[in-house]
Amino acid sequence: MTSDYKYVKPPADIMCAQDIEPHMFYQVFDMVDVGLVILDRDLRVCFWNHWMQMHSDLTPERIIGSYVCEEFPNLKRPRFLNSCKAVFTFGNFCFFSQKLHRYLFPFEPVSTFDTDYEHMQQNCTMGPLRNDKGEITHLFISVHDVTETVKFEQRLVELNMIDALTGINNRRSFELHLGEEADRHKRYGHPLSLIMFDIDHFKNVNDTYGHQCGDYVLQTIAVLIGNSIRSEDVLARYGGEEFCCILPETPMEAALILAERFRGTIADHSFCCQHNVIELTISLGVSSMGAETTTAQQLLKKADDGLYLAKNRGRNRTEAVD
Ligand code: GH3
Ligand code: MG
Ligand code: MG
Repeated sequence: MTSDYKYVKPPADIMCAQDIEPHMFYQVFDMVDVGLVILDRDLRVCFWNHWMQMHSDLTPERIIGSYVCEEFPNLKRPRFLNSCKAVFTFGNFCFFSQKLHRYLFPFEPVSTFDTDYEHMQQNCTMGPLRNDKGEITHLFISVHDVTETVKFEQRLVELNMIDALTGINNRRSFELHLGEEADRHKRYGHPLSLIMFDIDHFKNVNDTYGHQCGDYVLQTIAVLIGNSIRSEDVLARYGGEEFCCILPETPMEAALILAERFRGTIADHSFCCQHNVIELTISLGVSSMGAETTTAQQLLKKADDGLYLAKNRGRNRTEAVD
């Protein structure tokens, strides 16, 4: 339904011609999987279908005649009240998108397994209802439960952004974050650093202990490093056994100290997998935004150069490139 919808009054005999009686419409209104509400100009409830009753636990007998904003105080806000006014004054249609408003009516989600949302997520539409003379005397609201769709969309976004093996950010997510942080650095000039690290001789782990142990090592490294950073730092799996950590508000000196802490954490840890105890080291490259490094690409390239240097200079070490 769109705002260019024009109501055309049907001929008087249309219902009789089809043997359809008005009360049949009520049956339909009560069977559809949509909430339907009619309000008068004072925003009193005039119609409340079965769907609304099921989700609100308010029977039509109980709610009809009540002011909707008194029953649902969350509706007492300018966006909702102004929309009602626009419907009555101009015959507008209004859409309350879940993306902006989450919900109009604070109902519980249908699924009892639902821990993601405290309230049912809703897309709602509001529009005018005209009397015989074409005057707008009422408005209707339709309420669609989109909780499942929203959860599914969120899951797709996560799948797109999260590395399946380690549960940390994947490369795509890393690149998005790095771009955002580089923009922020450009605007406000705050420090920004990047650590890139790679497991030393990781191929040997797979060759000696098998891929399952290799996977376990990758997962454990994500946990160990993830536990040693701040919530605003972004840890990501950049490639096979290469990780990156974006450090906002962090100058080079602090990033170097942190990189050495990462190195120590991994060197000191014994990875226990399938009765094997595996000792590992990592090599790290560190870069920071500065006079010679102003873009995300340059920051990444310099951290990569640092990592290459660390490998060439014997591994299990940290190198910075300015
Ligand atoms: P270097 O010290 O030079 O980094 O040596 P390396 O052996 O770590 O480097 P190389 O690039 O030769 O080998 C990387 C290995 O990482 C090879 C590949 O099989 C392994 N690898 C990449 N992704 C995964 C993964 O998801 N799981 C497992 N188990 N291994 C992986
Ligand atoms: Mg490696
Ligand atoms: Mg590598």
